[in-house]
Amino acid sequence: MPLIVQKYGGTSVGNIERIKNVAKKIKKAVDAGNKVVVISSAMSGETDRLLGLTRELSSRPDPREQDMVVSTGEQVAIGLVAIALKELGIDAVSLTGWQVPIITDDVHTKARIKKIDTHRIRKHLDEGKVVIVAGFQGVTEGGDITTLGRGGSDTSAVALAAALKADVCEIYTDVPGVFTADPRIVENARKIPVISYEEMMEMASLGSKVMQIRSVEFGAKYGVKIHVRSSFNDEEGTWIVEENEEMEKMIVRGISHELKESRITVVRVPDKPGVAAKLFKALGDRNIVVDMIVQNVSHKGFTDISFTVNKTDADVAEEIAKEVAQEIGAEEVERNDKIAKVSIVGLGMKTHAGTAAKMFEVLSKEGINIYAISTSEIKISVLIDEKYAELAVRSLHEAFIENMEGDIQYE
Ligand code: ADP
Ligand code: ASP
Ligand code: MG
Repeated sequence: MPLIVQKYGGTSVGNIERIKNVAKKIKKAVDAGNKVVVISSAMSGETDRLLGLTRELSSRPDPREQDMVVSTGEQVAIGLVAIALKELGIDAVSLTGWQVPIITDDVHTKARIKKIDTHRIRKHLDEGKVVIVAGFQGVTEGGDITTLGRGGSDTSAVALAAALKADVCEIYTDVPGVFTADPRIVENARKIPVISYEEMMEMASLGSKVMQIRSVEFGAKYGVKIHVRSSFNDEEGTWIVEENEEMEKMIVRGISHELKESRITVVRVPDKPGVAAKLFKALGDRNIVVDMIVQNVSHKGFTDISFTVNKTDADVAEEIAKEVAQEIGAEEVERNDKIAKVSIVGLGMKTHAGTAAKMFEVLSKEGINIYAISTSEIKISVLIDEKYAELAVRSLHEAFIENMEGDIQYE
């Protein structure tokens, strides 16, 4: 009997009508002769609401207690889905992360899954039940509830599909698949029928939140077939699979953007060995992940060093930069929270020259200034003013996706 893992996101279980709709979809899969394991997110808005409550009490809530609070959103949703299924005559049982159990490390609020004990799930499946598991949460070896980071239900689903060796992991969401750009910003964005794990990982890490990055890493590692699709219709969505030669013909598969970073600049740094090491070691020691780094050309023995960090780390990073600036005799530290990172992603970049030049040309035609650039084999990212983010995404989409169809990409 085929085994399907289905994950429903927050919007898909956003109200009672939608939960009934989800139950009908699950019933359909059961009636078609499948064993079904369901992962549910919290009802839309609920995780934010719960986080908001913790923030009313503290600007930096204790991470263990924060997990205790925010993990409850999923518990409500799985119980409701199970009740809705029973109303349709389908036997179902809901399980929290600790009831499964899904064992994680103890890094509260962004824990990583270490192992999943599948015995209880298999027992319920053998009893003919649909098993509804809470997404986003797990439990430490010591018995404390953890959460997996925002969007973490995707990772719960793919990890469970890997552990159960499921035939497919279906990610049901509020868009019909993975698009060439965020469909909420680019009207002409197109659904991508097939995308490689590697491209999806880049897009996810560069801001396309349709899949949490760790879920795609799991998928790639264990070869889980992932199908991202709409919970509102039966349309075929996007398949995330191993890369193949055909995929390299496409220079740019998608355009991602990210507004979650801040830029910090240390101004007039004496240009001598060891200065950058000092700054980035201090940041690393405080667990701050630095994304982009630029050092200007030295001028009369001085230079500027800029770097970007997640906005949530910007206060601490700025503090550290100020301390180090004083130590090394730099002039001052500037901070800009209104920046955006816009990226183009595609396997075809490995084999096609001139992509960066074309990207910069498109942006310059729109009068958009580039503050920093970073590249890998299959992506190019630029840092720009936040107010130009949508314009940049749209013009890059037009140049690399809309105007290229049937053109060089399929030469
Ligand atoms: P869920 O609650 O189902 O997990 P999310 O809100 O986490 O859903 O992810 C779906 C959202 O991701 C879409 O509503 C869309 O706005 C956004 N998104 C960003 N980039 C893309 C993309 N390239 N393709 C599809 N959706 C995208
Ligand atoms: N409910 C969690 C969140 O909002 C997890 C998820 O939806 O995937 O981040
Ligand atoms: Mg999500």
